[in-house]
Amino acid sequence: MNNKNPKWHAARAALRLAKYLTTVGLALAAALSATLAVTEAAHAQAAPAAANGKIPVVAAENFYGDVVQQLGGDRVDVTSILSNPDQDPHLFEASPKTARALQHASLVVYNGADYDPWMAKLLAASQNAKRTVIVVADLVGKKSGDNPHLWYDPATMPAVARAVSAALTAADPAHKNAYDANLARFIESLKPIDAKVAALHARYAGVPVTATEPVFGYMSDAIGLDMRNLRFQLATMNDTEASASDIAAFERDLREKRVRVLIYNNQATEALTKRMLKLAQQSHVPTMSVAETEPAGKNYQQWMLTQLDALGVALAAGDNAGGKGKTQ
Ligand SMILES: [Zn+2]
Repeated sequence: MNNKNPKWHAARAALRLAKYLTTVGLALAAALSATLAVTEAAHAQAAPAAANGKIPVVAAENFYGDVVQQLGGDRVDVTSILSNPDQDPHLFEASPKTARALQHASLVVYNGADYDPWMAKLLAASQNAKRTVIVVADLVGKKSGDNPHLWYDPATMPAVARAVSAALTAADPAHKNAYDANLARFIESLKPIDAKVAALHARYAGVPVTATEPVFGYMSDAIGLDMRNLRFQLATMNDTEASASDIAAFERDLREKRVRVLIYNNQATEALTKRMLKLAQQSHVPTMSVAETEPAGKNYQQWMLTQLDALGVALAAGDNAGGKGKTQ
């Protein structure tokens, strides 16, 4: 098994989960049960707050953890499970440490849509009636089989923020005013992202681009780009071999500069992805890398703005390089 192989989407995640549960899952469940038994003997009921008086929160992905931190300030104690940009989120394996953090959390946020299927399993194994669980996919009407990279949709974080803020207020009503103020500030802080998307839309809507995987798909849709080679992306996403004709079409798009930009996942190391990146460079098609874990030193807003800026640079370079733009 190639641990560097970036895998992310639904069908693949489900397959991986099935395989993984038969091996790691049983041991994990046993470890969790033992931990639970000890804790429940110590506490008559699940504690609503950590010993330091803060609200214990677990986020499966670090960008959601970041948003909870921004909304809760010093009232929350946030643990983010997926936080290493050098690791492939799709290959994550939950540990007893993950299970323990979840067990004590009074608020849990995870992506859903099969991106982090281990979360539902861990939560089911760790019953806690007082715990509030926010599934982002449910908030934004996405389900199993949809593109799971929901945080690239500009509509997602406002919905997450409102749900998180309501949960924090419910857990800690005495500080409602602070949570309300933090929510208002957070929503305001997203405006530069919306403005950037609108500016890119005004200039580049309909411009053909392509990507090795649909990580950036929702943002690309928001900007109105004409995303090509979706079948190729779907194959990569499903960990199946792209058809010869789909590979040929992708290569033709790069070689003949039928696309203005190639968007690639910088956590991806598959041979076919690398081949397309190399071909883009040889063909002088600008490239732009995207990630699916928030980098250290940036908050969600800065991360999104940085990537939108990089896209703007790549699209402008594509202009200069003579990409065919809207004249297909
Ligand atoms: Zn992914």
